[in-house]
Amino acid sequence: MHTFARLAAAATLTLTAAAALAAPTYLLQRTDGPISVDGVLDESTWAKAAPTSPLRDLSGDPSDYAADIRMAYDDTCLYVAARLPAKRLRATLTQRDAVIYRDDDFEVFIDPFARGRDYLELEINQLGTVWDLFLTAPYRDPECLALHDWDIKGLKTAVTLQGTLNDDTDDQGWCVEIAWPWASITGHSNHPRTGTPPPPGTEMRMNFSRVDHPSPGDERNTVWAPTRQATIHAPEHWGRVRLSANPVGTPEAFPPTVGLWVHADNPDLSPADFRAWKAAGITTLILGGTDANIAKVAQWAHAEGLRAVAWLWALNRPDDPVALAHPDWHAVSLEGKSTFRPEDRPFVAYYQFLCPTHPEVRAYLADKARALAALPCVDAVQLDYIRLPDVVLPKALWPTYGLDMSTLLPPYDFCYCPRCKAAFGKEPDPNDPAWADFRLTQVAAVANTVADAVRAAGKPCGAAVFPTPRLAAKMVYQDWARFRLDFALPMDYASFYSEGDPWVLDRLREAQSAIDGAFPILPGLHIPDFYDRPDALRALIQAILKENPAGFCLFSDSELRRLHEQHLQGRPLLQHAPDAREHE
Ligand SMILES: [Zn+2]
Repeated sequence: MHTFARLAAAATLTLTAAAALAAPTYLLQRTDGPISVDGVLDESTWAKAAPTSPLRDLSGDPSDYAADIRMAYDDTCLYVAARLPAKRLRATLTQRDAVIYRDDDFEVFIDPFARGRDYLELEINQLGTVWDLFLTAPYRDPECLALHDWDIKGLKTAVTLQGTLNDDTDDQGWCVEIAWPWASITGHSNHPRTGTPPPPGTEMRMNFSRVDHPSPGDERNTVWAPTRQATIHAPEHWGRVRLSANPVGTPEAFPPTVGLWVHADNPDLSPADFRAWKAAGITTLILGGTDANIAKVAQWAHAEGLRAVAWLWALNRPDDPVALAHPDWHAVSLEGKSTFRPEDRPFVAYYQFLCPTHPEVRAYLADKARALAALPCVDAVQLDYIRLPDVVLPKALWPTYGLDMSTLLPPYDFCYCPRCKAAFGKEPDPNDPAWADFRLTQVAAVANTVADAVRAAGKPCGAAVFPTPRLAAKMVYQDWARFRLDFALPMDYASFYSEGDPWVLDRLREAQSAIDGAFPILPGLHIPDFYDRPDALRALIQAILKENPAGFCLFSDSELRRLHEQHLQGRPLLQHAPDAREHE
C-alpha cells in the first residue's frame, strides 16, 4: 500500500525525464482496430506498426538472437506483439510467478513515469506461464522491494508455437501477444476499470528481453536497450517510448536530441538563456565548468525541461591541483618530456595530459565522474579529451603551429612514460603497430573504467570524440569503436580539416558503420563554420536527421548566440522545437 501511495503522490509532481539521449526510441501509435489476443499476429495493426530497432546483447554487442517486436495502444490497453525465431522450443514451468527465465522466455519492462523506479516487469514462457512483478527500485538500491504477489489485473496474453514444444525436430520460433491494461501501468490502483493512457507526447521507459538457454547452464540475455552492465535492471538505460495521438502507420519521426555545449562558468548565464534555448528547440545541454557551476545551471536546465549532461575533461587536466601533486601521473613524449611542466607541454600550455595506463589516474578520473553523476540535476556525463595529445593535428591547424605533421614528430607522440614502457614489455619502436595498439588499448581502458563508474552511479556516459574511430586512432590514439559508451558526440568540425558539409555526412556514415549501432551517435557541428551561411547549416541538419534520427549537437553556446545576433536576422535556426508536453 505504501508503494502505491507514494507512486500516486509522486505522479502529481512535474517530472523531468531521466537522461535519455542514449537510448533507442519508439513512437507508440494507436491501434487501427480491435486486437484479439490469441498469439496469431494477423491484425492489420501488427502489419502497420513499426518494429523496434534490433535486439543486442546487454553489453551492446550484436546478438545471435533476434526478435520482431511491435507495439500499439488504445484507451484501455498497451499491446505488444513479438515474433521470436528459435531453433528449439522448450518450457516446463506452469505455475504463475515461478522464476520464468529458467525457461526460455520473453520479457517486458515498463517504467511508466520515466523515473527509474516503481517499474513493472512481465515474463512469459512458451507454455504461456506468466511472472509479473512490481519493483519499487532497481535491485542495486538497498530500498528495492520486488513485489512478486502483485498481479497485472486484466492482463491477457497468448503464445503460439511454430514447432513442437520439447521436441527440436521442427522448431522455427514462437509468437507472443499481450494486452496490458493501462490500469496497471498508470492507474495507480491497479484496478482494471481505472487508468487511462498518458497524454500524447508523454515518454515512458521500456525494455524487452529474450532469455535463451542454448545448452544447460548457458543463459543468453538479448535486449532492446543495452544497459552495458550485467543486469537489465537499470531503467535509466531503457528505450524511450513516446505516445502519439496518431494511428499505426502514420509517418512521423521521434523528436531528435538537439544538444548544445554550454560554458557553465560564464557569469552572464541566467535562466533566461535556458528558456531561449528551449524555445529554439534545444533539448539537451552539455555543461562544462566547475562542479558547483554545473550543479547550479543543471537546475536551470531542468526547470525548463532540458536534459543536463555534465562535461568532464578526462585525460587533459590543466591546473588540476591533484594532478599537479603527482608528477608521475603525467604523459611523456617520445623526446622524453613530461606534460608536468607548462613549458614542456605540446602545442599549448593547457595540454596537461595524464598517462592512460596509470591506475591512480584511472581511479581519480572515475571518482571525478562519479561526483558529477551524483549531482541531482545531472542526467548523464560526457567525457572530453579521452585521448592522448594530437600526434597528427587536423590539417587546417598545421600552419597555426608552423608544423608539417605528415611524418611522426617526437615532441607530439605520447606516452613513453616508464610505466607505459614497462607495461608494453619492451623498448617501444614509434612505428610499431603493436605499440600504437597498446596505447589505443590503454585509452579505451580509461574510457571504459570511467564509463562503468558513471553507469554504476545510475547515469549514462558518453564522450566527445574525433570524427570517426579510424581518424581518432590515427590522430589522438582514440579508437572509440573500443569504447563502451552510451552515446558519442563526434566533433565533425569540417573547417578544422579544410573540408565542407558533405565531409560531415561522409564521416557520420563512416562512424555509423564502424560502431554498427553499438550506441547512438550525435554529430557535433562547429557553428562558426556556418556564420555566413545559416541556410547551409539548416540544410546540413536536415540531411543529418534523415540519416541519423537520434539527433545532433552544436558547439557552443557563445557561438550560437553570435549566430543568432549577427547572422539569423530573427529567423529561427531550428524547426524542430519538441512538443512542449514532452517533459510533463
Ligand atoms: Zn604512460
